[in-house]
Amino acid sequence: MQAQSTARAVPPLIQNLTILTVLFALAQQIWSFITFYKVADNVLVEGVARVLPTLFAALAVASISRQHPNRASLPWRYLALALALNTIGTILYQLFKGVFNITAFPSIADVFLSLTPMVMVYGFFRLPHVALQRLEGLRAALDAGIIVMTISGFIWFFVLSPAILAHYAKTNGLSFEVSLAMTYPIYDLLALALLITNVARWERSSLGIELRWLMLSLIAWLVADGYFLARCFFPPLPESHPLEGGWAWGALMIVIAARGSLFKPSKIELQAQTNTLLVRYGAYLAIVLIFPLLLFAQNFSPLQRIGTEIIAGLIFLAVIARQIVLTMNLEQTNTQLKTLSNELERRVAARTTDLEFQTLHDALTGLPNRVFLERHLNRMLELHGTSNLGVAVLYIDLDHFKDINDTLGHPVGDEVLRQVTKRFEACLPENGFLARLGGDEFSLVLSKLEPATAVTQAERSAKNLIQSLASALRVGDADFFLGASVGISLAPNDGLDATSLQKHADSAMYRAKREGLGWRLYSPDLDTNTTLRLETERALRRALETDPGSSFRVYYQPILEIQTGQIVALEALVRWNDEQVLRNPEQFIPIAEECGLIVPLGTWILHEACQQMVLWEEFNLRVSVNVSTAQFERPNFVNVVTQALETSKLKPDRLSLELLEGVLVSRFEETASKITQLRAAGVRLALDDFGSGYSSLSYLNRLTFDTLKLDRSFIQALGSNRDTRALVAAIVSIASEFGMDTVAEGVETNAQLETLKSLGCDNVQGWLYAPAMSALELEGLLKRGSLEAREFTAE
Ligand code: C2E
Ligand code: CA
Ligand code: CA
Repeated sequence: MQAQSTARAVPPLIQNLTILTVLFALAQQIWSFITFYKVADNVLVEGVARVLPTLFAALAVASISRQHPNRASLPWRYLALALALNTIGTILYQLFKGVFNITAFPSIADVFLSLTPMVMVYGFFRLPHVALQRLEGLRAALDAGIIVMTISGFIWFFVLSPAILAHYAKTNGLSFEVSLAMTYPIYDLLALALLITNVARWERSSLGIELRWLMLSLIAWLVADGYFLARCFFPPLPESHPLEGGWAWGALMIVIAARGSLFKPSKIELQAQTNTLLVRYGAYLAIVLIFPLLLFAQNFSPLQRIGTEIIAGLIFLAVIARQIVLTMNLEQTNTQLKTLSNELERRVAARTTDLEFQTLHDALTGLPNRVFLERHLNRMLELHGTSNLGVAVLYIDLDHFKDINDTLGHPVGDEVLRQVTKRFEACLPENGFLARLGGDEFSLVLSKLEPATAVTQAERSAKNLIQSLASALRVGDADFFLGASVGISLAPNDGLDATSLQKHADSAMYRAKREGLGWRLYSPDLDTNTTLRLETERALRRALETDPGSSFRVYYQPILEIQTGQIVALEALVRWNDEQVLRNPEQFIPIAEECGLIVPLGTWILHEACQQMVLWEEFNLRVSVNVSTAQFERPNFVNVVTQALETSKLKPDRLSLELLEGVLVSRFEETASKITQLRAAGVRLALDDFGSGYSSLSYLNRLTFDTLKLDRSFIQALGSNRDTRALVAAIVSIASEFGMDTVAEGVETNAQLETLKSLGCDNVQGWLYAPAMSALELEGLLKRGSLEAREFTAE
């Protein structure tokens, strides 16, 4: 039967054999009492009672061994064999006694009986075990020897020597049978010693309890054999004694151990050494016990005394040997530990270097990280303290990087960052230390700057970094144009410690970003701006989160047809009622754009404007709503617009969205698709602030807008600059070529109006007619029907 080693039920055969062993062990014990007290006696019954327990035990262990896979069955097969030999020996002995009525000792039976412990010991050694180290094994052997010697010292003193003396006195010699009888307990003792010696070995193989059962069985046999021996010396001792039940019980214990092994894995599991107390302190206990015996023995016969003394002497020698072995063992362990710890140290060192790299570098780009940067910066500042050479800190932040991540996903974002890193690295000066601080923030530390040229060097680096991104980044088959904003702070002027230099570079960067400057040097007035910015951001957030309707107002500015002076449209322009102060968009829109609040704010404005236009349906006007780049670039922007139209029920062609040129420059494909979708929905599109920024006409032929809004700066320059006039004329004619109408923004004077009229501009918007005003104000004006041009004068 192929057996799995762990948990399974005991087969019925084994179960029955176990029960039979138990029953006959009991029967044997009871019978021994009956004969001992001379209640009855019968040779046949005695024979049966003595033979059956070991017989059934032998059968039980044999069938258990068949449950084990090949190698694991070996020890149990030997134990079964030992029990069988014992059974045969007992049968023969009982036969001689019952049939021939002779107490045959010694006889052929003894051949079998004395083979029993030998086979058993052999079986023990086939138990699964781990190899002990040489010194460890030696120590275990010495321990066992000491324990056995102690036991035998007592046996000698109390049993054997008095018995020999008594025997000697009677027969004047030591008979062969007595010598043979002596071998039995000695065998048992030897077997026990071997077991104890190897407890450590076997315990590691998970046979814990089983080993203890085997030891107990040996002790039971020891008791029975001991009595048998004593009986040989003192023939008047009764033939059948309850102590001889030890044989039956010993056999049963072997069965129990064998059964236990069925539930143990047959493979050796290396466990931490479970040194039993016995193994650890047995030797010391032996000395403690043998010493009083030695003192006590002084008053007894020489045989008793000298025997005990010899044994005690041997024990002392063994203990000394054990201590030497222990010391050697410890030394060996010590060197092993040292080698081990050296190896460990080496590994830890390697791992530390590894970790250090990881803790000091950014995993994505391989650049040094913030921690490393700070370390470097501090070192450079120390150097600065002694050499007086300048240090510059540059903070670099990519513009609109968040949108790439949001819309195209992180893998694309990561790739962009890696490419940006390469570009930056390519333009690093020798004294530059570039790090990634996280997200799309980088920092460059320039050190050993000559004081006279420090500023120019830092500025040059900033320019180079920005310039390095001028050509498109290619990820997959999409092109990206990324801008960067750089803030610069310099030691010693802007600070002498890393923290303040970094803080200042950061606020300079913020300013650069806000003003679209590219790069900027730190100046102390920036700080107040930063605080203000943060406060504004907080207030904006609060206003948006509580009730936008009470904090924000949409103002409307009329757009008129230049030829007729009729109001054709209104531009929605937001105002913020911040604690009773009406704030203009310049003061908060850039901040809202930076921190993303423009998105919810823009949505609110869109809804508000659409609803207002439905209320003003009678005037038949369009509304023009400004859309921030951040807003437009949201993936769901088209939905936001259609939703606003649906909830307000405003006709789509009544809504015009004012987009900025910036939208067109980055991510052309996406922009194009959104524009197509919006146009398909029927919404009108205007290009705002045309001429203020990139002013590239190239995309105009690819994207269709309905309206082009000429930037206020053009209009202002109209009077003074002839080139501007020509430029505006060109723009207007190109616009009409592409089917767009034009709106001139910020018209303040009649002269401007006239020029625009002569250039063929379609619509005007400006203070010449009306500023942006509240819905309430404007409603009165609309009802009156007309607007008059009133030249604007700053009062
Ligand atoms: P914009 O889109 O160019 O809006 C026109 C700005 O010019 C408005 O300023 C308007 O009041 C002002 N303006 C109109 N006529 C004249 C004039 O004759 N002379 C002068 N000097 N200025 C004139 P406002 O309302 O302060 O808005 C400033 C900017 O804030 C807007 O520029 C726009 O970019 C942004 N903005 C305003 N409202 C919104 C909004 O609802 N959403 C978004 N995203 N941005 C808005
Ligand atoms: Ca506008
Ligand atoms: Ca504008």
